[in-house]
Parts: sequence; C-alpha cells; structure tokens
Amino acid sequence: MSVAGTMASRRDSQTSSMKPSVLIVEDETALVELLRYNLEQSGFKVVVAGDGEEALAAAQEDVPDIILLDWMLPLMSGIEVCRQLRRQTSTANVPIIMLTARGEEGDRIRGLDAGADDYVSKPFSPTELVARIRAVLRRIRPALADEALSYADIVMDLVAHRVIRAGKPVHLGPTEFRLLRHFMEHPGRVFSREQLLDSVWGKDVYVEARTVDVHIRRLRMALNGESQADLIRTVRAAGYALDSTPG
Ligand code: CA
Repeated sequence: MSVAGTMASRRDSQTSSMKPSVLIVEDETALVELLRYNLEQSGFKVVVAGDGEEALAAAQEDVPDIILLDWMLPLMSGIEVCRQLRRQTSTANVPIIMLTARGEEGDRIRGLDAGADDYVSKPFSPTELVARIRAVLRRIRPALADEALSYADIVMDLVAHRVIRAGKPVHLGPTEFRLLRHFMEHPGRVFSREQLLDSVWGKDVYVEARTVDVHIRRLRMALNGESQADLIRTVRAAGYALDSTPG
C-alpha cells in the first residue's frame, strides 16, 4: 500500500464519526459540564476550551461545526475571540453562538457585529440551547442538523450510516461515504480535487489529487450499479459535482 493510501485510511478511522462537533468556549466548569452532558446526549461531539487562546488553537486544529462562545472569558473577551475566528480563513464561516449574562440590546448588537450568528442570554435551559444550535446549523449547514440527506433517488441515513438508491442499499467505504455526503450537502456545486481533499480528507493529510479520482470511481461504481444514471458529473479541468440535470 502506498504512503498516501495508509494516511488516508488512518484518517478514515479517525473521522468515521459523523456527529456534528461543537466547540464550547467557557471558563465556568459547572456550566461546561452541563453543556457537555446535554450536547453529548443530543448527538454532538464536544470539545472544550477554557479561554480565547485555547479556543483559537482548538478551532484551528480541528475546525468545529459550530462554536458556543462565552462573552466573559479570562484574558481575551469572547467578542475578540469572535473577531479573530472570523478573520481566519478556516473558521471564517463556522457558525458562532455567543453566550452571555448580559441581556442588553447594545451587547447583542456588538456580538452580532463581531460576527456571531446568534446570541443566547444566561441563564438559559440546555434544551433551549440545543434547539438554537440545531436552528443555526439548519440555516447554515442544513445537512448537519438533520439525520438524513436526500438527492434525486439517493437517501443517506447519517445516523445508521446507510445509503439507499432507488430503494436498494448501496455499500460504500468510509471515504466514499464522506465524499458522497459532501456532495449531498452541496448538490450541483462543482468541487476541484484540491477542495475535495481539504473537505473530505482534511487539510493536514497529504494525498495526491489523483486519489480523489480513485474514490470518485469507486463511488460511481457503488452508486450506479448495473444501470442507474450517473449522478456524478465530471467537469473538465474543474472537478466533480453531484448533478442530476442532463448535460
Ligand atoms: Ca465565562
């Protein structure tokens, strides 16, 4: 097996969980534990940072799907952390919900100005917060909030890790599953091999661009079976897209 293949399969085992990840940035241990418990119960993967520096490092290392950011943090304020997250390319589009004891309208506006997507005032119920997280995810990345994706005659059950096409099960390897998921989260959009490598394999993994072609071929074979229409469009010199429109 090539070095690239070994690295790719190691990555597979690391990221086989499809749970959306939440980065909690909060210094109050009791609240962190309450949030961690409720979020894990609701199917999220939880990462915790106790201050701004730690949060920026954690978000950089493994970009979360959503960030819960407390306003009152030691050393660096939540607002400043929010601004810095927005300035970095990798976290510029990650949804951020700010948590704060302050309920004033002015603070709310400052938070949103700094790039927060939503705002929750303390005290809040964990149930309400989980609902807000789902609402933000649904708005920003619809696929993460729901448990299934569908496109044309393909249905992807994200909880059971099952794919069905035209009523029949499709067996996919972990990389093909993530590749298909990425396409189904952005139907019609053309991705270059490099973009697919970054999103599906991860930025810290060095595999050759043609590895993408190999997995696309496997995905096509698994999806199309004997006679199904090919829903993966090859765009010359550009990349690939999930597209059911002919031509
Ligand atoms: Ca705090």
